[in-house]
Amino acid sequence: MTDSPTDSPALLQLADGLFVRQAVDNIAWFDLGGSAVVVDALEHRGEADAVAEAIAETLGETTVAFVINTHTHPDHVALNRFFRKRYGAEIVNARTAEIPTDGRWFEGPLRRALMLPMGGLHTDEDCIIHLPDDGVLFTGDLFGWGMIPLIRGPDAETVRRLEQVYERLIGLAAERIVPGHGPLATTAHLRRFVEYLRQMSEIAHAGVSAGRDDNEILTDMAPPEDMSDWWRFRQWKHADSAKKILRAVRRRKL
Ligand SMILES: [Zn+2]
Repeated sequence: MTDSPTDSPALLQLADGLFVRQAVDNIAWFDLGGSAVVVDALEHRGEADAVAEAIAETLGETTVAFVINTHTHPDHVALNRFFRKRYGAEIVNARTAEIPTDGRWFEGPLRRALMLPMGGLHTDEDCIIHLPDDGVLFTGDLFGWGMIPLIRGPDAETVRRLEQVYERLIGLAAERIVPGHGPLATTAHLRRFVEYLRQMSEIAHAGVSAGRDDNEILTDMAPPEDMSDWWRFRQWKHADSAKKILRAVRRRKL
C-alpha cells in the first residue's frame, strides 16, 4: 500500500491463473479453465494493446469469454468494445444483463466466480464479484480507501444501506479485496472504514451539540493515525469525507 502508486501498472498474481493489473484504474482477469473472465475495463482505450499483451503473457491462448463491469461509469468500460471484437467476449453488467438477486455464477474446471448485485451505494448498478475458493473479492467502487462511496448523501438512509452492504461484504471473509482503483485491500480495511464513518459522525455530533464552529469540529475530526497510509487518504479523501459528514450532521440528516 502506498500513498502514490505509480501510474505505470503493476501486474499482481493472486492465484494460479488470477491476475490484477493494478494502477489508478484496476483491471483483472482470471482463468476458469478453457476460458477467462475480465473484471472491469478501464477508462482509456489506448491501453487495449498493453492489456491484451499482459493477458496473453499470463494466460497464453486462453480466450476472454466474459467481461464483467462492476458498474458502467466511463472509467470501468472503455475496453468493452475491444474485448467484444478481439475475443467475442460477452459484456456482462447491470445494463446488458438481468443479474438475479442471488447472483450469476461463472464456472469452469479451474474456478468459479459469483457476480452479485449490490446496488444503491455508488450506483444503482453496483455488482461485486466473489471468488470464494480463491478468497478474492472485487468490490468495484464500493470501497475507495476512505472515499465515501455514495452518489447521494451521506444521510441516515444511505449510511444505513452502506452498513448493510458492508456487513455482507465483510461476511464473505475474503482475504484479498480488489477495489476499482488503487492498491489491494483486506476485509480488515472494510471493517475499519465502517468504524471510521461512525467515529467521524460521533465526533461531528458531539461538536455540534457543544456549539463548536466548523473549523473546530473539523480539527476534532483529524485523520486517524492508523489510516494514514490509506491510498490518497491524507491528501484529500479524509478532508472531503469529514466535510460531508459534518454538513449532514449540521443539517440533521445524519
Ligand atoms: Zn471508478
